[in-house]
Amino acid sequence: MQRAWKGKTPRRPALKKTNNVEKDPVGVYCRIRPLGAEDEECCVEMISSSTIQLHAPDGLKANRNGEYKETQYSFTKVFGINTGQMELFEDVARPLVEDLIQCKNGLLFTYGVTGSGKTYTMTGSPGEGGLLPRSLDMLFNSIGPFQAKRFVFKPDDKNGIDIQSQVDALLERQKRDSQQSVPKTPSSRQKADLEFADMITPEESRKSKNIDEDCSYSVFVSYVEIYNNYIYDLLEDAQFDSVRPKPPQSRILREDQNHNMYVAGCTEVEVKSTEEAFEVFWKGQKKRRIANTQLNRESSRSHSVFTVKLAQAPLDADGDYILQDKNQVNVSQLCLVDLAGSERTSRTRAEGSRLREAGNINQSLMTLRTCMEILRENQMCGTNKMVPYRDSKVTHLFKNYFDGEGKVKMIVCVNPKADDYEETVLVMRFAEMTQEVEVARPVDRPIYHLAAGRRHRNQAFKDELSRRLEERGGPVNGGDSALMNQLIESLPALPPCELVDPTDDQTLPRLIEVLEQRHRIRQMMTEQVTHTANKVKFMLQQFDSQMSSKDTFVHDQQSKLNEKEKVILNQKTEIERLEKKSKTLEYKIDILQKTTEMYEQDKRSLQQELEGQEQMLQKELSERRRMEQRMQGVVTDTKLKWEKECERRVNAKQLEMQNKLWVKDEKLKQLKAIVTENSSGGSFPPEPPKKPERPSRERDHTMPQKRSASPTALPTVPPVRPTHRRSRSAGGEKWVDHKPASNLELDTVMQPIIPNAIKVSTPNEKALSKCHKYVLRHQELASDGEIETKLIKGDVFKTRGGGQAVQFTDIETLKQECPTAPSRKRRSGSDEGPAQTEDIENRAPVGGTSSSNGYQKRRRP
Ligand code: ADP
Ligand code: MG
Repeated sequence: MQRAWKGKTPRRPALKKTNNVEKDPVGVYCRIRPLGAEDEECCVEMISSSTIQLHAPDGLKANRNGEYKETQYSFTKVFGINTGQMELFEDVARPLVEDLIQCKNGLLFTYGVTGSGKTYTMTGSPGEGGLLPRSLDMLFNSIGPFQAKRFVFKPDDKNGIDIQSQVDALLERQKRDSQQSVPKTPSSRQKADLEFADMITPEESRKSKNIDEDCSYSVFVSYVEIYNNYIYDLLEDAQFDSVRPKPPQSRILREDQNHNMYVAGCTEVEVKSTEEAFEVFWKGQKKRRIANTQLNRESSRSHSVFTVKLAQAPLDADGDYILQDKNQVNVSQLCLVDLAGSERTSRTRAEGSRLREAGNINQSLMTLRTCMEILRENQMCGTNKMVPYRDSKVTHLFKNYFDGEGKVKMIVCVNPKADDYEETVLVMRFAEMTQEVEVARPVDRPIYHLAAGRRHRNQAFKDELSRRLEERGGPVNGGDSALMNQLIESLPALPPCELVDPTDDQTLPRLIEVLEQRHRIRQMMTEQVTHTANKVKFMLQQFDSQMSSKDTFVHDQQSKLNEKEKVILNQKTEIERLEKKSKTLEYKIDILQKTTEMYEQDKRSLQQELEGQEQMLQKELSERRRMEQRMQGVVTDTKLKWEKECERRVNAKQLEMQNKLWVKDEKLKQLKAIVTENSSGGSFPPEPPKKPERPSRERDHTMPQKRSASPTALPTVPPVRPTHRRSRSAGGEKWVDHKPASNLELDTVMQPIIPNAIKVSTPNEKALSKCHKYVLRHQELASDGEIETKLIKGDVFKTRGGGQAVQFTDIETLKQECPTAPSRKRRSGSDEGPAQTEDIENRAPVGGTSSSNGYQKRRRP
């Protein structure tokens, strides 16, 4: 099988290598022909529908001492003497034709001795058409209406098929007609009077049901004869010289791109009907016969090969024309082979060159047998012996059926007459062996990826169109156009118009006649064209008038449509606007989202910061609280310490002062005693009518009276007379402000301002006599290192002796503190309240009174 669409991909499955290829054995059928009228003894017996039995003729048995036994042979099927041509066709050839239509290759050959009925089986006899005409009939019945126009498919001389356009095909048709100058092939059933008419037994029902109607088909036939291992083209258009016959040109075999063998340059005739195909075959047959006679050949010694090639290609998507693509063309072929008689040379009384030729013929059949044997051995034993296809033309030609794929069938023809017995035995052996050979099953046809039913739809459309045209009175499709086509096809081709003889009075008249005929047809065509044009014009006018009435309606519709379109347009703009807006909003949302995210991030970081700071604050607070507690402790400790210290010092001072006072008292007592002794025993005047003596007054002043605070000798009565006290209301108190020169000037805000004061650095009697009050500014270093100013206040009394005495009544303490000094800090940390810049302490009067009489007062600024 050839498939151009497969390109150069080898189609030959390597049978010896791949075992998964599906294979079928060669179908071997046996046909027994009836005994001839002159023959009496029958040595073949049909046992069953698949088995025969050979009986050795009586003469042979007698001669060879029972060497020949009765042998049985089995086949795919055995056809007995009563089997008709039709039955044989149905069983053997029909499946092959079916395969051919399904793009699968087939090979059918007849084998047997001369006279066994090979030609009868293949070609048939008048009234009894053989497998060949019946196969053609079935093929054309199947593809009949789906055939492409002539020359649409065109052999490419490489065993492939090209495809060309309808126009190119038409031009080629006309060219061929003019060249051949012969009347075209008569239409199919018009040839009843032909000599082979009886060979074709047409039967309408004989057709394939699996035809693809969406394909276009074309059939090409070729016919070759292989004689003496030479191939001759039986359809070659060579002028046969009857005077000096020259031997026909032999052909060579070539392999195509799909590894199929073909006869190079072999004529392939495109045929459109069974009759035409058979006519071609018959022509070849005649030629063969003539050549055999002329060249003195033994006709039974030649093999004839009739090849039916079917090209098919899918219709385009419209179902109108064939798809103009060579790759889509599928080609399949069925070879019908009538082999030469298989008998050995000795049987024919051949001599000379004919003997040699016969040897060669035997040689080809011998090669066939060898090939089958080796094939069988390779397949059965797994060996890889080389099959000698090339040893003969016959085996070489069919090489790819066995090496590649295809369907192979063989009909073994048997003449049961006793004379043929020995040859028949050989035939049977070969047949038995052959049916053990397996051939790869052809693959299924390719699938076209186009919708099915294209042709049907296109036809329906055309029918509907012509119906409507008819309704309107227009040209009918298949009417006018068919007539036109007929006219075109009937244009006679121009005869040869070469004038070689001046007396030639035939060429020119013939030419004139043809030209006149062509002119007439041309006129008819012109008329036809004018007629059709008029019809079309009339229809157009009608159509126009119909259109104008419809025009208003259409106009209305159009305006409505325009309105709608406007509305749609407006809506579209609105939609666009909204879309833009939504896009803007989306953009804004996007930005806002981003901003929100940023803010949230900020918020988070700030919160974190805040938390950190709060933690720090808490830490600081707790630290401070801890510090405060510590400080408080320290302050309390220090306060206690200092209180104790102060108390201790005060006690020490008091003790010291008491001691001093006691010493002074003692001195005074001694002094008194002295004084008393001096006044010779006078007592101390009870009243002071006398003015005290100056020196004593002076003494008094220098030693101001101070009562000892000694607890042991506490005076209950002041040493002065209170009655001598000046009235304060009489003109305000007058102060003696005693400020020793050693005093430091302090830069304090609170300075005691004493009105009506007489400021002295050393007290004198004069000043004291004028005043009622005395104040001493005494400065000393306090325990904390600060200067402490004490205002020691006292009342001035006139002594009995006329002197002045001062009774100390009050001590005010002025103290200045530095804020950074630890003592102050301690004070601020105490529970006593806010820090004081200055303390003024009013102490209990010391002079003349015991501490129990004193009071303590604290003033705050
Ligand atoms: P082959 O081609 O094998 O040499 P043919 O086909 O020429 O033999 O047959 C020889 C003769 O036998 C022919 O006249 C043919 O009509 C006749 N014949 C062969 N087979 C049959 C058959 N099955 N029925 C009737 N006649 C037959
Ligand atoms: Mg024959």
